[in-house]
Amino acid sequence: MMDKKVALVFLPSDSGVDGARSLYDEGAAFGPARWFNGTVRNLIKKTQFAIPPLALMILASVEVPGVEQSICDLRFEPFPFERSWDLAGISVQTGMAGKAFDLAGRIRARGIPVVLGGPHVTMFPESCRPHADALVLGEADDLWKEVLADLSAGSLKREYRAAQPPDLSLPRPVGKASLKKSRYFTTNLVQTGRGCPWRCDFCNVHVLNGHVLRQRRIDDLVGEVARFREDDRRIFFFVDDSINADPAFALELFDRLTPLGIRWFGQATTTLGQQPRLLDAFARSGCQALLVGIESIEPSSRDAHRKTQNRTGELAGNIKAIRQSGISLYGSFIYGLDGDTLSTPAAILDFIAETRLDVPGINLLRPNPGTKVFERLREEGRLLFDPDDLASFRYTFGQEMLYRPKNIPLPDFIESYSELTRKVFNMRNAFMRGMAAPSIKPAVMLFNLFYAHLYSLSRHDLQRQLDGLQA
Ligand code: SF4
Repeated sequence: MMDKKVALVFLPSDSGVDGARSLYDEGAAFGPARWFNGTVRNLIKKTQFAIPPLALMILASVEVPGVEQSICDLRFEPFPFERSWDLAGISVQTGMAGKAFDLAGRIRARGIPVVLGGPHVTMFPESCRPHADALVLGEADDLWKEVLADLSAGSLKREYRAAQPPDLSLPRPVGKASLKKSRYFTTNLVQTGRGCPWRCDFCNVHVLNGHVLRQRRIDDLVGEVARFREDDRRIFFFVDDSINADPAFALELFDRLTPLGIRWFGQATTTLGQQPRLLDAFARSGCQALLVGIESIEPSSRDAHRKTQNRTGELAGNIKAIRQSGISLYGSFIYGLDGDTLSTPAAILDFIAETRLDVPGINLLRPNPGTKVFERLREEGRLLFDPDDLASFRYTFGQEMLYRPKNIPLPDFIESYSELTRKVFNMRNAFMRGMAAPSIKPAVMLFNLFYAHLYSLSRHDLQRQLDGLQA
């Protein structure tokens, strides 16, 4: 009997590092501007900051006799309708749901069953049910084997629900055979655990993965890194939201990884700056860059959104300590939180100048459906889109306001946000930051250059949105 063929589908977001584009008619740009936008977009794609979807890598590593799985990354190719499939599994993010449902409809119209899973399906199953033959609710690590076995037996169920989150201490080796390596910036993606003990109100990580940190075994992780390194010598990305959430675990892990001589980047909290032994282990094990979520330097905003795990007064010192250890920092801010005022941008600019952050990210708050902040904004009547139209809360790169800020009228907010991004991102700053970066200088410069382009799209689109709202 022929193997059953399964397509695991990843959809591109409307805009972002994978393919920045204006949300509005590209025809708005003419001549050189249009050419420039297209060239930069291709450059961003070609320089391959794209990374593979780890969730689908994990599913593709589940082996069931008689089933063959492929990852279809639609950032690079349209869905391969010309091949014959027995099942398509689509990972659905909120904001991408409309696109996912549309694709599911086109696949099902050809008689191919579709399974939907991912964060949106877990949080809003009823809105997904009409678009799928089966739903996977919760973390799919254990469930996927059941789905594939049922496919093989011709007895697919309507729903697969995890009774409890998977025990990550059980060995589940991740494979990369289904990836086209050359497409990606790196294929060395590793997750050491899931769950977050914190409860920031704009984040759905703790909603989806729980408040208890579940970790993989350090032996398994070291083995995985060694195996991945054989196959791809490029940089590693530890995708955990806070790689230093459990300092003792991180210390043992990176001490043991040091002899492997890898280079890596990851995401951490700034408290790392006060953990000298761990910071040293990060640097010695090859850490090149970290993303830190600063979110806000306004104490009232941090309190309003329950971002309480590191104190405002300690942020700058911590950032300086991390940079001094030779690690470059991407610092992510959110402007427009509930304690922010029109004087916040000046404070952000001062903070960036003082800490010499290598790549600042100046984000807009995204009230994702399913988060506490979404419910609060809905109750306060501050959402700019119909709260029941979940698909309208799409991901963009600072290109669309989804709500009205608390203390600042919307037009003034958009003007001040645009002014802030204009001051933070320009050619001169990109060059200076690249030169001053403690590590990976060319990447820091390139990132800042890309951001100069991405934030120009943000300014253009926000103005278009405002014009529409005021019309
Ligand atoms: S923003 Fe970070 S620290 Fe806060 S809940 Fe989400 S993952 Fe945890």
